[in-house]
Amino acid sequence: MTVKRALITGITGQDGSYLAEFLLGQGYEVIGMVRRSSTINFERIEHIQDQLTLVSGDLMDQISLIDILEKHRPNEIYNLAAQSFVQTSWSQPVFTGEVTGLGVTRVLDAMRIVDPDIRFYQASSSEMFGKVREVPQTELTPFYPRSPYGVAKVYGHWITVNYRESYNLFACSGICFNHESPRRGHEFVTRKVARAAARIKRGLEKELRLGNIDSQRDWGYAPDYVRGMWMMLQQDQPDDYVLATGRTHTVRRFVELAFDCVGLDYQQYVKLDPAFMRPADVDILVGDPSKARQKMGWEASTSFETLVELMVRAELEMIGAED
Ligand code: NDP
Ligand code: GDP
Repeated sequence: MTVKRALITGITGQDGSYLAEFLLGQGYEVIGMVRRSSTINFERIEHIQDQLTLVSGDLMDQISLIDILEKHRPNEIYNLAAQSFVQTSWSQPVFTGEVTGLGVTRVLDAMRIVDPDIRFYQASSSEMFGKVREVPQTELTPFYPRSPYGVAKVYGHWITVNYRESYNLFACSGICFNHESPRRGHEFVTRKVARAAARIKRGLEKELRLGNIDSQRDWGYAPDYVRGMWMMLQQDQPDDYVLATGRTHTVRRFVELAFDCVGLDYQQYVKLDPAFMRPADVDILVGDPSKARQKMGWEASTSFETLVELMVRAELEMIGAED
C-alpha cells in the first residue's frame, strides 16, 4: 500500500501537534507548514520533529501555499492555522479576517489549482454559533457570531462548503467545540486556570484574575478531536460535523474543580478583572455530536472532570520539572 501524505497548517499549535502524532501513528508521511519567526517555537512538536517534514509558508501568502502543494503533493490537507484567540480578534480584527477567514480561500484555491483530488479539512468553530439560536447546537443551527474571530470562522466555513459545491472538492468542515489539553495556549481560560492553581499551590503566585466566569462551554480533550478530523476525511462523502461532548459547564465550575485538585478554595484567590471581559461574549455553548457518532462512530472519550484533573496535574509536573 502506498503511504498517505498529509499537510498540516498550524502544526506548531495545540491541535496540529496532536494531529501530527496521530497521523504518524496511522503510518502517514506528515508535512507541517510553519511560518517564519525570529525565535523557534516548536515546543509542541519537538518530540516528533525528526519524523516530520517542516516547510515554510503562511496563510497570508498564496504563492507559498501553491509551492508547497506542488512540491509535496499531499493526499490530505488539515487547515488548522488561524489567529485563534477570540480576545485578540477585537484588537486585530482585520488581521484575524485575513488569516482565519481569507486564509481558508487561499488554501482551497491552491488545492483547486494544483490538485483538486486532495481531501481538505477546515477547522471550524463553535464560536460561529455565538449568541446561540438553539440549545444544543447542531450542524443545522443558524450562526450568530459574537466576535471578529467568530465572523472570520463563519466565512471559512461557508467558503469550504461553497468550494465543495462549486468545484466538487472533497472539503469538510469540522465544527469543533472547545477542546483543551496541557498543550493549550496559555491565554485560554482552561490553561490559565490550571496553571494558576498549580502555581498558587506551589507558592509561585498569589491570585488569579479572570473575566466572565459565568459563561458556559462544552469542553473536551484535544486528542479526541483530532481523531474526529481524520475520520471526516476517511468517509465516502465530504460533509460537515459537530464535534462536542454534549455537556456544558461554567468557567466558575472549571475553576472550582481545578483548585479542588490542589486542595485550595478558589474563592480566596480569584479576582474578577474587567481587563478580561469581552465587548461581547458567548454565554453558553453546548454541542450535539449525534451526527458524528451515528455516521462516523466518533465520541469524546474524556470527561470534563478528568480533563480538569489532567491539566492541573500536568502543570504541577511542569513546575516540578522547572525546580
Ligand atoms: P493554536 O492557536 O494553538 O494554533 C494555531 C496555529 O496556527 C499555530 O501553529 C500558528 O503558528 C498557526 N498560524 C497562525 N497564523 C498563521 C499564518 N498566518 N500562517 C500560517 N500559520 C499560522 O490553535 P489550536 O491548535 O487550538 O486550534 C487549531 C484550529 O482549530 C484553529 O484554526 C482554531 O481556530 C480552531 N479551533 C480550535 C478550537 C479549540 O478549542 N482549540 C475550537 C474550534 C476551532 P505559530 O505557532 O507560528 O503562531
Ligand atoms: P473561547 O471560547 O474560544 O473564547 O475560549 P477561552 O478559553 O478564551 O474563553 C472561554 C470563556 O472563558 C469565555 O466566555 C471567556 O469570556 C471566559 N473567560 C473568563 N475569564 C477569562 C480569562 O481570563 N481569559 C480567557 N481567555 N477567557 C476568560
